[in-house]
Amino acid sequence: MSDTLQHQGRRRQLVDQLSKKYPFHPSILVAMLKIPRHLFVEKGLDHLAYFDKPLPIGVNQTISQPFTVAMQTHLLAHTKWERVLEIGTGCGYQTAVLLELGLRVFTIERHKSLYLQAQKNLNALGYTSAHLHYGDGFAGLPQFAPFKGILLTCGAAQAPPNLLQQLAIGGRMVAPIGVEEQIMTVIERADEETFTEQAFGNYSFVPMLPGTR
Ligand code: SAH
Repeated sequence: MSDTLQHQGRRRQLVDQLSKKYPFHPSILVAMLKIPRHLFVEKGLDHLAYFDKPLPIGVNQTISQPFTVAMQTHLLAHTKWERVLEIGTGCGYQTAVLLELGLRVFTIERHKSLYLQAQKNLNALGYTSAHLHYGDGFAGLPQFAPFKGILLTCGAAQAPPNLLQQLAIGGRMVAPIGVEEQIMTVIERADEETFTEQAFGNYSFVPMLPGTR
């Protein structure tokens, strides 16, 4: 499938809507204008890809709503070249947004089929620099830590302790925290032991689950 003028037009409309809803960092909107979201969703759903809605990506998982992707990216408050860890690669869309921003992206997915699909989706679009890992995000990637940013794209009951340990001093984790519903939480690491927390509204995410599938 290609990126037709119609897809591009709808994408522009979506990004316009997002820009009116919240003052997102312009570089995020530029990235989202560039990335063909319809090529990340299941075949047959591409006509729905430019509504501000989550969509199924297989094995009971969803690609996050564009507003949520923009918000999580915004809250990450990135700087170019920084090392970030994403938990929940899914179809790879959020990964592509982080790559467009010039970040060094490490990402973990617990579903083998999604890990493979994300690899395919990203490669097809020329995004070859992300470090994709198949595994359990609760463990993080200690061999590549510390990370300046950690982004959870699944809802966790609490901030996973291993991930807090892998956060750089001065770094921030953006995590939807909660069981039924989640509160978007930004956790900053001030020093070895001090973490501060700020809440940014309610969201609904698929759960962060242990182990691999
Ligand atoms: N960022 C994704 C969103 C996918 S939804 C995208 O843009 O498509 C959240 C993802 O988190 C799902 O794919 C789910 O399988 C994954 N996930 C849940 N628990 C996980 C864990 N412990 N480790 C890694 N991935 C996990």
